[in-house]
Amino acid sequence: MASSYVSRINQIDAASLDQEIYKVLRSQAKRVTEYQPIEKIDRWQPEIDAILKYCIWHFSLRHGKSTFGQQLVNLHYENITGAKSILYLILTIGPAYARDKLCERGGAGSRYTRYVERFANAVQLLEFVNSLIFLNRGIQPRVIEYLLGIASRSTSTQKPRNIGYSYMTRELLWHGLMELFTVCLPMLNFHYLKHATRRLFAYAKRRADARRTPPTMDPGTNCAYCADTPILPVHAGCEHLFCYYCLAAHFAAMDQFRCFRCDAPLCARNLTTYQPPSSPTATGIP
Ligand SMILES: [Zn+2]
Ligand SMILES: [Zn+2]
Repeated sequence: MASSYVSRINQIDAASLDQEIYKVLRSQAKRVTEYQPIEKIDRWQPEIDAILKYCIWHFSLRHGKSTFGQQLVNLHYENITGAKSILYLILTIGPAYARDKLCERGGAGSRYTRYVERFANAVQLLEFVNSLIFLNRGIQPRVIEYLLGIASRSTSTQKPRNIGYSYMTRELLWHGLMELFTVCLPMLNFHYLKHATRRLFAYAKRRADARRTPPTMDPGTNCAYCADTPILPVHAGCEHLFCYYCLAAHFAAMDQFRCFRCDAPLCARNLTTYQPPSSPTATGIP
């Protein structure tokens, strides 16, 4: 008995591999008819599905003892016979085909559709109960196996399950890195970094004697940060004008930093809106 033991995870893997193989074939078949009118193809979808399932059965269980999923994890049905194999085919294709056809004929909300829905729910419940029983007993993860009385056996003598650890390590490493980045990135003060780098490169160009005259704005004045015409011009302690956004965003990140052009210390509490000096032409105009 011990030699015929098959681990639960192998059986679940085999069942889900079978599902995946079917899904891959189905999506391939869908892609073939991608450019055909959709209603034309939809009418034949139940038949296409049935043919695909038949093909899978024909090339696996008809002459052999295992489904494709089982072959991938070295399993087979030991006690499957010709009759059971054909029953397997009928149970695989029949219910799904009948469901699709009845729903198609009945349309939404009809008597047929309601019966079919109830039946499908019952089958789902059966699957759920069966999977609980499977977890307890360790054999027959699918209802169809339970009905036919077939169980998976290992084709090879008991050998340890092979797991690719290099793949898992790579995956773990990648996840660790992602986590590190998502935790650390919000902690970085990008404004400070940007400012420090700009200061580093602008060091040579900086004027030694910075004048501390109030800023004036003329058509050629640009924001000291973004080098564009200042929008809502403000200043904060040097002769340069900034856009409100350019300066406020920096002050949101840090209270104090140095002007990019003249290296004068700028402070959040000195942030002042630029007032154009009153000129004779400007006064008197409402
Ligand atoms: Zn700006
Ligand atoms: Zn300045």
